Amino acid sequence: MSIDSVLIVGGGAAGLAAVETLRSEGYAGALTLVCDEPELPYDRPPLSKQVLTGAWAPERTRFREAAHYAELGVRLVRGRAGALDVDGRTVYLSDGYPLRFDGLIIATGARPRRLPAGHDLAGVHVLRDHPDVAGLRADFARGGRVVIVGGGFLGMEVAAAARGLGLEVTVVEPLEQPMVRQVGPMVGAEVARLHREHGVDLRLGVGVTELRGDGDVLTAVALTDGSAVPADCAVVAIGAVPATDWLDGSGLAIGDGVECDQFCRAAPGVYAAGDVASWVNPRYQRRMRIEHRMNATEQGSAAAANLLNGDVQPFAPLPYFWSDQYTVKIQVHGHRSADAEATIEEGGPADPLPEAAAWVESPGTVRDEWRLIF
Ligand SMILES: Cc1cc2nc3c(=O)[nH]c(=O)nc-3n(C[C@H](O)[C@H](O)[C@H](O)COP(=O)(O)OP(=O)(O)OC[C@H]3O[C@@H](n4cnc5c(N)ncnc54)[C@H](O)[C@@H]3O)c2cc1C
Repeated sequence: MSIDSVLIVGGGAAGLAAVETLRSEGYAGALTLVCDEPELPYDRPPLSKQVLTGAWAPERTRFREAAHYAELGVRLVRGRAGALDVDGRTVYLSDGYPLRFDGLIIATGARPRRLPAGHDLAGVHVLRDHPDVAGLRADFARGGRVVIVGGGFLGMEVAAAARGLGLEVTVVEPLEQPMVRQVGPMVGAEVARLHREHGVDLRLGVGVTELRGDGDVLTAVALTDGSAVPADCAVVAIGAVPATDWLDGSGLAIGDGVECDQFCRAAPGVYAAGDVASWVNPRYQRRMRIEHRMNATEQGSAAAANLLNGDVQPFAPLPYFWSDQYTVKIQVHGHRSADAEATIEEGGPADPLPEAAAWVESPGTVRDEWRLIF
């Protein structure tokens, strides 16, 4: 099948990698990138680090300037994809506008998971995009008590940033240690120690029953042990769900994300990459979906190359992610199975521990690196 027009839906790291790979691999046909956000595509990891602490202006997260897209001959379309007709080779924007394609790459990422109730209270936040970080920074600037719901890597990064800004921080995590799914209980215990030594009130093995308000303003977070933590601000960091709503009725297989084969292919000429994609990783002989920054770039490139060159390269990465908390950089290579345990291969808790504020003064300063391999 000759490919004369490629459409990429989603202007995150995966979408950008797909665009750049298509051009670097010699594709000279029409190339359209649909972006739902009212600004040029930008990167997300700094949002819970340098942007949240105020060390970087949000604009610094922009991947590329407008001229770069023009040079590549990429048509940027601002809009939200609303439906996909696979047989008709057309994506419809939410206002009904049709975009035809020969090849399609779905890169719509994920959206923060929400608690069943209480999200409308003033003071309750999620963290995914620029408006989210602006709202959170405004609340942090008012000072007060912050409760973080969820002790995954995002919640723990927000906890570190908030402590660095001098806020009172409680983290609520139902599992036995923070970040336990990513690093296992032994290293999770080190993460817990790191945060407690920086003054975080870490409530482990306990969940949230309710976000309580006075009128429409958050006042407390109620926990499953019957206690309630007074709160001026709450950050709900309980994971993300793949952004597949617009694909309902398309006929694509949707499970935990867009289900693809080992080439990241969901249907003939239709590929998916990044947080939204679930694919069979030949390295592990199993289906996975990875919400990490490096995977988004690698999978965006792989999907583009396979679309262009005809499924030449199974996508078999060794997953990798990092997390910055205070002056510690945690790096994890590999995929942790449920019972796998790791020790810290390199580094260890800094001694003496740096002041919490030091990280905010010189963000990105790594005093200590923990490297884990699964
Ligand atoms: C605050 C934060 C900090 C992080 N820190 C780290 C870290 O330290 N280390 C690490 O490894 N990973 C980190 N991650 C994860 C990493 O950033 C993501 O895995 C990566 O951004 C995923 O890229 P993506 O292109 O798949 O999706 P996204 O970046 O989510 O991009 C998807 C784009 O598609 C758009 N979109 C959605 N639906 C539609 C639609 N219907 N039509 C058109 N456009 C649509 C969205 O608006 C978005 O712009 C972090 C994530 C966040 C949110």
